[in-house]
Amino acid sequence: MKTLGLIGGMSWESTVPYYRIINETVRESLGGHHSAPLVLYSVDFHDIEALQQAGDWEAMGERLGEIARRLEGAGVDVLVLCTNTMHRVAPAIEAAAPDIPLLHIADATAAAAREKDIRRVGLLGTRFTMEGAFYRGRLEDQHDLEVLVPDASGREAVHRTIYDELVHGDVREASRERFQAIIADLDSRGAEAVILGCTEISMLVGPQDADLPLLDTMEVHAQAAARACLGDEEESRPSGLSSSI
Ligand code: GLU
Repeated sequence: MKTLGLIGGMSWESTVPYYRIINETVRESLGGHHSAPLVLYSVDFHDIEALQQAGDWEAMGERLGEIARRLEGAGVDVLVLCTNTMHRVAPAIEAAAPDIPLLHIADATAAAAREKDIRRVGLLGTRFTMEGAFYRGRLEDQHDLEVLVPDASGREAVHRTIYDELVHGDVREASRERFQAIIADLDSRGAEAVILGCTEISMLVGPQDADLPLLDTMEVHAQAAARACLGDEEESRPSGLSSSI
């Protein structure tokens, strides 16, 4: 098996299920006592969140690039950045550790959409993810998906819920209802599925909260990471799709 290098802690609430899903997927595939060889570098999210607020993406790229180099030194074969938002600095990570592939979360998600012939998706995530070219643009330009996002007040509500509640493990009914309404609006605008493009959103909503399929980026990415780990040793190939589909 290949050794995974996880860059996590953004937030740790969503890194925990990554670890569980990767190991479960490896066990399902190989059986017995098999589990995933991996190294986890979990950051102090306080520092990252402050840099996000300051808009200092260069500093974040340097910091995550340095972590990628350390993971390279630890002997990992594949890098997995356990957050959507921080893929904004994916080029800096790739430049810092050019010999190790970075398993991009948007590529794994787009592949999961393609498997289901989904072409028009709604996208929920942080303001950075919903509005930035690094993510939305990648889905549109490299994967030929049509991407719908909530209106300005919906985007603000989703963004605030992530930073004020979900990254703290705080799950509120009022926020769930707001997300249900936002998802229903994307549905009425013609979305065929909604991408939960923040690794904490599945703490709040699941298949029961929507009339259309939900693509959970955390789950899809963790399953893709497990497949990368398995490499040639994989016996059965999981679909990579959320159980909500
Ligand atoms: N985990 C989140 C994401 O998937 C947001 C937290 C962060 O800013 O990294 O985008």
